[in-house]
Amino acid sequence: MNKRKLQQVVTGVATTDGAGVELVRVIGQPALMDLDPFLLLDAFRSDNPDDYIAGFPPHPHRGFETVTYLLNGRMRHKDNAGNEGVIEAGGVQWMTAGKGIVHSEMPEQQDGLLEGFQLWINLPGSHKMVEPSYQEHDQSQIPVEERPATRIRVISGETSKGTTGPVSQPLTDPLYLDVSLELAGSFIESLPTDHTAFVYVINGSLNIPDENDDGQVVTRDQLAVLGAGDSVELTAGDEAARFLLIAGKPLNENIARGGPFVMNTEAEIQQAFSDYKSGNF
Ligand code: MN
Repeated sequence: MNKRKLQQVVTGVATTDGAGVELVRVIGQPALMDLDPFLLLDAFRSDNPDDYIAGFPPHPHRGFETVTYLLNGRMRHKDNAGNEGVIEAGGVQWMTAGKGIVHSEMPEQQDGLLEGFQLWINLPGSHKMVEPSYQEHDQSQIPVEERPATRIRVISGETSKGTTGPVSQPLTDPLYLDVSLELAGSFIESLPTDHTAFVYVINGSLNIPDENDDGQVVTRDQLAVLGAGDSVELTAGDEAARFLLIAGKPLNENIARGGPFVMNTEAEIQQAFSDYKSGNF
């Protein structure tokens, strides 16, 4: 086994998006513009309704997928293809924007804690203009794998023990795990060598092997980019830890960004704005 080592630790940047939602941008900011195939990771956690109540009124996307995973609270999704649903704690909404969709993402609560993540996963140029599609899976549809001192919620991909999440996407083969470790517990897992991989610490702290092999501590709300290798070994510190382990196959294509659109070229971004303005979404 060739353990993946800690390559970079990234702390998110406080940002306001949508109609005034306070969030932390972890991927998609100067310290980490992208992590192919991942384009953006936003984390939100607040029990102050002023931080989230305005939500994300109707807006377009083209060229990639958005994955919303809620830890606490409720959010209602609605799009111009007729899809609508409410995700609750432990649920995921996986939207393939493809050639274009207009959707809204609004809190379905007036107060209380709203906590979760939105991840953007790129699509290859050959699939950026596919028909949009939408999947929603509530907590009961997300399998939980139990190991000693470890509980793994499998949102997409498959663990080495064969637990398979409800979402599969062969284009980027994403693995999306929500892992809880008891105090001092260790999580060892194999990962495809050609996949990009990162860890985001939700609670507690993790020790991750680094270049000196003595390990480095990564704490709450930090993202750790993992280097090359075929496995990971993550150990909880002096308290229980919860983290996301996310991996995917890089696309190695040019990335052109224009707000809610991510394409391969600037001309395709201009086309997206023009299609949206002329009502062709
Ligand atoms: Mn959106």
